[in-house]
Order: sequence, then C-alpha cells, then structure tokens
Amino acid sequence: MDHFSVRDGRMFAEDVPLDAIADAVGTPVYVYSTATLERHAAVFRHAVAGLGRGEPLVAFAVKANPNGAVLATLGRAGLGADVVSGGEVARAVAAGIPADRILFSGVGKTAAEMRIGLDAGILQFNLESEEEAQLLSQVAVDAGRVADIAFRINPDVDAGTHAKISTGRADNKFGIPAAEARAAYAAAAALPGLRVTGVTVHIGSQLFDLAPLEAAFGRLGSLIADLRQNGHDIALADLGGGLGVPYDPALPPPPTPADYGAMVARATAGWDVRLAFEPGRLIVGNAGVLLAGVVRVKPGAEHPWVIVDAGMNDLIRPSLYDAWHDIRAVRPSGDQWTANVVGPVCESGDTFATGRDMDRVAAGDRVAFMTAGAYAATMASTYNSRPLTPEVLVSGDRWAIVRERQSVEEMIAPERRPEWLTA
Ligand code: PLP
Repeated sequence: MDHFSVRDGRMFAEDVPLDAIADAVGTPVYVYSTATLERHAAVFRHAVAGLGRGEPLVAFAVKANPNGAVLATLGRAGLGADVVSGGEVARAVAAGIPADRILFSGVGKTAAEMRIGLDAGILQFNLESEEEAQLLSQVAVDAGRVADIAFRINPDVDAGTHAKISTGRADNKFGIPAAEARAAYAAAAALPGLRVTGVTVHIGSQLFDLAPLEAAFGRLGSLIADLRQNGHDIALADLGGGLGVPYDPALPPPPTPADYGAMVARATAGWDVRLAFEPGRLIVGNAGVLLAGVVRVKPGAEHPWVIVDAGMNDLIRPSLYDAWHDIRAVRPSGDQWTANVVGPVCESGDTFATGRDMDRVAAGDRVAFMTAGAYAATMASTYNSRPLTPEVLVSGDRWAIVRERQSVEEMIAPERRPEWLTA
C-alpha cells in the first residue's frame, strides 16, 4: 500500500499535489512519501517480530535508496542498514543509524572500506571468500580491533527472478558454496582479527516465490547445526532481502510480508539465533515516484511517441532489466490511449513503455512513473550530459528538497584539462 492517490483530478503524494512540486522544482524529479516508508518499515518489522532470539534486526539495504533523508526516516522507524561500500557506511552513519545496526555485505570490499566499517564499529561483516577473511583480519589487527564476521553462503538455489538480480546460484559470483563453508569457518576462526558470529544468505531480488527462499534457509539451518558441532558460536543468522513488490497492478501480487514471516518462522524453528533481514525494494519501491514532463508527442508507425523529460539516465530499470513501471497522468482527463513512452536520450533503449494502454497525455502534461523508490535515483547517471535529478520528500502536507538538482556547472566541475590542451 502507498500514499499516492488521485483526488479531484490531481495526483497527490500524501497531502501534497504532485504538480505543485513539479511547478516549484521542475521535472524530472523523484518524490518520496514518508508515510509509505514508515508503513513499510512497520509492516515488515511486525511480520518478523518475535522470531528468533531477542529482537530481529531489520537492516534496510541502502543500495536500494541511499538518500540521507530516506535513511534518516527509516532509522527513526527502527531500521538498521545493510551496506555494500565505504560510501554506504558513511551515509548510514551520517543518517544517524546506530553502528550496532549496520551489516557490511558485498563481494569486493577493499582494505580501505573494511577500515571504514571497523572504525564505525559496525555489527558484522558478511564475507564472501576466505581471501576476504584474511584481508579483513589483517586490517582489523592493524587497527587494533576484532571484526565480527559471517560468511555468505551460496546455496545454489534458483530464485526464479531476472538473471541480473539473481545471486544465489552456483554460477553467480556471490558467497561461498555450502560444501566449502566448514573449511572457511575453521580458517576464519583461526585468524587473530576475526570473531565468527554468524551466517548469511541472499539469493536475489524481486522474488515472487517463497519456495526458493525456504530452500535456501533450510540449507543455512543445516549449516548452523554443523558449525555449532564444530565449536563455532553462531549467534546471528542474516536472511538477506529479496521480497518482490507489485510493479504491474494487472499481475498477481507478490507474497506479503506476513506470508514471508510465516515461512521464516517455519524455516528457522529451533535455530536459537538472533535473526537479521536486509529488505530494500520492499521498503522503498512503492514509496517513490519519478515525476516527468511530457516534452512533446510525435506520431509513430503504430502508436504515438510520448517523449518525456526523464531518460534512461534517470531511471534505468526498464532498459537494464526490461522492468515495467506503471505510468500515470498527474492530472488524468479520463481519456485513455495506447502509446510508446520514451526519453530524450540518444538510444533506442531509452524506452519506458511500448504499446502501453495508459492515460492520454499531451505536451506540457506531467506523468508519474510509479514504484520508482528503489534502484532508481541511486542508479542515475549523467549520460548524454543530463545533470542528476533532484529528490523530494513529502510528509503529510509538508515537502522538502532532499537532494538538489545538479547544475550543468556542477556536472562539469570535476573535469580537468591536461596542460597540453590548455597551452
Ligand atoms: N542484501 C544483499 C546482500 C543484496 O545484494 C540485496 C540486493 O540485491 C539486498 C539485500 C536487497 O534486496 P531487495 O531490495 O530485493 O530486498
């Protein structure tokens, strides 16, 4: 459920009309709803409350939306952070998320990034190879610290999602095979800078089927028992993220957080560990829209081309993952038509929708790309020298710019001319 609705012919984010934001800030602009963020955080926390030992940790996957105001909102709603870079550690800490709620995932952490995590005092490093364990131990010893660690297990389960966001198959780069886990834990436990504390798994994103997750958790459960028999004190099981969100209202809905919680209760019964979760998309996906202006409409061979002022550089999901976003008029007239919706970028891949039945729009109108809160603004680039899009956060009848629109000057400023071009 989200807090975007049409009232008296205008689309609102909570109690703020979207066209008022567009008038003030211009388009394209991302708009996020505080009430939706808070609701999703509360629903997920409720779904897993009471599971495992102590209070479960719900660590928002920062990669889905790293905007500082979004992180601060979620931190106040009781969430922690799952981070995958030194930059994400810094953002989580700056947003006020306590270090003991931060998990550090990612397959390619460098020594410098490990040091950032150690200095921040994060809860646990989720490691993906013995080589990484050796490096972290060395960095921790040099820093005079001991790092709490888990290994990410690759359960060799097909999550049944898009290949580019599937992470738990043997041929994906992530984690270590379950068969090699015992040796990896033994090696890590012998390293001076590490303390073995957990296990973790994450098999992919935008999952509509709980069965692969349950299969992966089953493997993790067997591993916990095995590791304990080998003398490791496994206190935290981090079950990753991955729950899908409904992009296309015409499709059957994904499992609910309550369905997920019931499955987790079943799969983890008797584990006697604290549980952690890393939801990203589920928390922020439906909490954001990308607001764009219609530049012009030109005739097409089969359908008219609706050319908007947002491009694949602002929202890459359709061209990267063939993703589907609902596209609605901000002031719907009630007329419908079938159209292609494209951006201004010089690539045919800059296509948001083909042959889409949608609200009829004309030049000067505004459209909202729905479910654009996750893996959207954060994946933006300046391709075609298009400055980065601003972000706005709404709360009730208030709204604020939470990232300014980049100017052309700011976009160009970091570039330097070598002396042979300035003479
Ligand atoms: N945890 C890890 C390690 C991830 O790689 C991801 C995203 O791929 C997530 C959590 C969040 O996944 P989602 O946004 O599908 O919940």
